[in-house]
Amino acid sequence: MTTPDHYAALGVAPDATPDEIRRAWRFAIEAFHPDRYAASEQRDRANDMATRVNAAWEVLGDVGKRAAYDQRRRAGDDHGPLMREVPCPSCLVRCGVPDQGGRAIDVRCPGCGSSFRAHVGATLVGRPQLVWRGLSGRHVLVLLDRHGTLSEVVARRLPPELALSEGEVVTVVRGGRRGDARYVIVHGHTTDLGWKVG
Ligand SMILES: [Zn+2]
Repeated sequence: MTTPDHYAALGVAPDATPDEIRRAWRFAIEAFHPDRYAASEQRDRANDMATRVNAAWEVLGDVGKRAAYDQRRRAGDDHGPLMREVPCPSCLVRCGVPDQGGRAIDVRCPGCGSSFRAHVGATLVGRPQLVWRGLSGRHVLVLLDRHGTLSEVVARRLPPELALSEGEVVTVVRGGRRGDARYVIVHGHTTDLGWKVG
């Protein structure tokens, strides 16, 4: 893998919060400050570490850059494509789909033969925003794909148990005439959680 491990450079976990990342970076640039070291080979090494730490901060300290990096990292450290299970909105059969890094694709259901649109493995930008249209609320989700393209998807309801937070990796199944969200699947580190949202 040629992608540098920015999380290792800062000594934080891949699910570290922005605050943890900022604190780790501050600590590291101080710890590796060349003035702290007398021997020249130590100074060189400290310089080298500081360069890596700053490169990590430049990516992980920026929400958009971090999301894109995470997607590359996930795609790179797996054997073969990561498979996502996506429910067919017509018959609920679970369709195995390779992770698309958030790109919207048409999935053909092997159960009923119908096609549906899904953003597979997208990164959630910000938290869903509740927008009122007359008396009915709509939740607007902003999704980012690995090429940096943003898409807005509307969900009619979001269950309160669905803790959608910034940076979450999700698959959104769309349907209906307006292409509203039907299902949101949150891809956790070990399990996926799926919810009907429309
Ligand atoms: Zn189906």
